[in-house]
Amino acid sequence: MDRILLKDIFYLQRSSEEEGLWGYDLLIEGNRVAKIDKNIDFRPGETDRVIDCSRHVVVPGFVNTHHHFYQTLTRNIPAVQNAELFDWLVYLYEVWKHIGDESVYYSSLMAMGELLKTGCTTSTDHHYLYPQGFQGDLMGLQFKAAETLGMRFSPTRGSMSLSKKDGGLPPDTVVQTEEEILRDSERVIQRYHDGGEFSMRKVVLAPCSPFSVTEELMKESVQLARRYGVRLHTHVAETFDENDFCLEVYGRRPLKLMEDTGFIGEDTFYAHGIHFNDDELKVLAETGTHIAHCPSSNMRLGSGICRVAEMLPMEINVALAVDGSASNDSSDMLGELRNALLLQRVKYGAAALGTRDVFRMASENGAKLLGYRKIGKLEKGYAADMAIFDVHKLEYTGALSDPLAALIFSGYNHGTDYTIVNGRLAVEHGRLTGFPEEELVEKGNQIARDLLSRV
Ligand code: ZN
Repeated sequence: MDRILLKDIFYLQRSSEEEGLWGYDLLIEGNRVAKIDKNIDFRPGETDRVIDCSRHVVVPGFVNTHHHFYQTLTRNIPAVQNAELFDWLVYLYEVWKHIGDESVYYSSLMAMGELLKTGCTTSTDHHYLYPQGFQGDLMGLQFKAAETLGMRFSPTRGSMSLSKKDGGLPPDTVVQTEEEILRDSERVIQRYHDGGEFSMRKVVLAPCSPFSVTEELMKESVQLARRYGVRLHTHVAETFDENDFCLEVYGRRPLKLMEDTGFIGEDTFYAHGIHFNDDELKVLAETGTHIAHCPSSNMRLGSGICRVAEMLPMEINVALAVDGSASNDSSDMLGELRNALLLQRVKYGAAALGTRDVFRMASENGAKLLGYRKIGKLEKGYAADMAIFDVHKLEYTGALSDPLAALIFSGYNHGTDYTIVNGRLAVEHGRLTGFPEEELVEKGNQIARDLLSRV
């Protein structure tokens, strides 16, 4: 069993509740945390490692709870830099309909690479776009990318079935029939899903949104997911346009539609959740439904401010997410914590959220949302998933009276020095260990150029 000793840690945060520890060691055995103590007696064997952490803050690895990896290839496109959600989508569907195997694989590497380098160790992804003629094993390509980089991965099998001709938003060329969707959803669960405590592969089912699937598909997805014990995910209450659409097409607000289809509960998480009224917040609390909060995307698209500071005291589980890269436009996980903290203060004042609150959202709450009981904290027996930041740098100088908060209040380079996932180094000296970054940059830019040139 390989072991890694983190030696003489400048500041170790084990969980959001506990006090930070100064000058401790942390021992990893296999894929778990084995011991946290001062001066651990350790005689390294040939495959063991000792990492000097005397300059570093060590925190539980972050959990990203909503993303669209393929969008890393279409970030920052001038035509929609200033558009709101529906206009932004209508333009981008025309680009996205050209994605294929190569774009899925490389965009997954790009997004996960950025996530790992900014402290994220577990991510989901919401891939809902299956262009006509796409024959490959899309989720298989994503798992291959996750394995290459060493990321813990819980992707969702997304779907769209309601195209323009049926009154939906997406064009006909990017939707599938409901039979195709359900067949492939069952296939990926059977083929890839591992429900274990330290699972590196957890499948989720995720019809895209109320304006791109039918009520029937939502119901069928709920039944299928519950039959296999996998989680459910979708976008809910992101914009006023979505409210209007649901009232017009379904005669109900989005959350009522979710309730009526059974798409709600402790096994369900919604992306965004901005425009809920007071009664709807109570429904979320009562049902134990989780929220994946995406502050950067919400600001970027001008969608609004999620009521996080009201949700947390109601014990609604709110986790954090960078969202797709065409609306962020980065997978900077540590940056997302900063934006979450600051955005709530715009609406609710300076005491709205503290740094420990956003750390909890990014780690423990994210783990809970995805149904992991042994990640999100650094305690004996927990998964060895952690982010290690060097804080002895100019940008943190003078901020070390509270080293954990320094990561959020100060700093501008959000890169880790080391990121460890499941007991293995996925980032070392600030570089990905699983894939050459120069090659990824070159290849990613080439695919992005090709994609745009086809529009
Ligand atoms: Zn999204």
